[in-house]
Amino acid sequence: MHLNTHLIHMPGNYLFAEIARRVSAYAPSAPRPLIRLGIGDVTQPLAPAITQAMAAASLEMGTPEGFHGYPPDQGYDFLRQAILDADYAPLGVQLALDDVFITDGAKTDTSALQELLAPDARIALTDPVYPVYVDSNAMAGRLGNYENDSWSRLATLPCNAENAFVPELPTEPVDMLYLCYPNNPTGTVLTRAQLKRFVDYALQTQTLILFDAAYKAYITDDAIPRSIYEIEGAEKIAIECCSFSKSAGFTGTRCAYTIIPQALTAQVDGQAVSLNALWRRRVASRQNGVSYPIQRAAAAALSPDGRAQVDAQVRGYMDNARQIVTAFTSAGLQVFGGVHAPYVWLRIPGGQSSWDFFDRLLHEAQVVGTPGSGFGPSGEGYLRLTAFNTAEATREALARILAIL
Ligand code: PLP
Repeated sequence: MHLNTHLIHMPGNYLFAEIARRVSAYAPSAPRPLIRLGIGDVTQPLAPAITQAMAAASLEMGTPEGFHGYPPDQGYDFLRQAILDADYAPLGVQLALDDVFITDGAKTDTSALQELLAPDARIALTDPVYPVYVDSNAMAGRLGNYENDSWSRLATLPCNAENAFVPELPTEPVDMLYLCYPNNPTGTVLTRAQLKRFVDYALQTQTLILFDAAYKAYITDDAIPRSIYEIEGAEKIAIECCSFSKSAGFTGTRCAYTIIPQALTAQVDGQAVSLNALWRRRVASRQNGVSYPIQRAAAAALSPDGRAQVDAQVRGYMDNARQIVTAFTSAGLQVFGGVHAPYVWLRIPGGQSSWDFFDRLLHEAQVVGTPGSGFGPSGEGYLRLTAFNTAEATREALARILAIL
């Protein structure tokens, strides 16, 4: 049996599997309940507009007239139209229905979209980074060898306090560049001018941008772009991935969408090839979509009532983020993010490593964070905390952390 050697040689565990392993080994002997500010999972229940739509659609499925079998490959028109109306029209972004692909998660698509590229295509991504982009390319055999914490065929763009978490442009030719803003893990954003620099570079060099906007609902200032298509020309060079997970609490419900504009083409043998058509071809062979009740639930999250309810939840999480930033800043610690994102990126005081500090927080404060180094070498010396717990738990966690520092 010839197994996938790229998979066999993947380094270590997926980050959150390793955290879960350490937490479950320690939890039985912990002197008080753990507070989890680690994995980026929401905690608020689904909003009433969403559950009502899901329940109504489920009942509909039990009737002869309302039964739905396989959904359309790209998703139901009612949801795709709601996305265009609620998420793009207010930004002045004009897209077509066929530009939208409904999927069961941004993880599914951000990991799969590399299949559009040749096996030897070159990739660039920021460091630290959401690990899914790296792992999916490594498993496809595109990244070369892994030695001393780095892949031999991967261009990384370091983001740290010294460059204010704004990456430089790639210095070597690449085929695809991943950008995630608001950023997981650092919680930082790019201004319109900073994002335009990347779009202009991509247009000039014909580099595909994969823009992950999973956290766009957390942006609190209209001056910060919520979509890459707010930047002129981006529809010719960028794919955008969005999700209902963090905007509407769908981490367990599963619904997301990807935009591949029909203006996005690549030259192959002198012909313009549509990436939208390629992805449609791939989707038709590889998936059967998201269920009718869940697509109805997602559309309800975009309705005026649903929007008001989920926006209130997002504001609640952002109150927690503000609490974390204020507490740490008042204690003289250096923190980043937490203003347009549910993540706070703490510079670890005293020069401790990310994993040592993670273990110390776990064992002395009974608080679970995420070690920055798990997101890439430039994350060493940082710890990520999420704003997704309750206000009370967040307050208690901050008191515990400050007590041990
Ligand atoms: N993209 C980023 C940057 C994320 O942080 C996450 C989840 O944490 C995802 C995508 C996954 O989203 P989904 O739940 O839609 O798969």
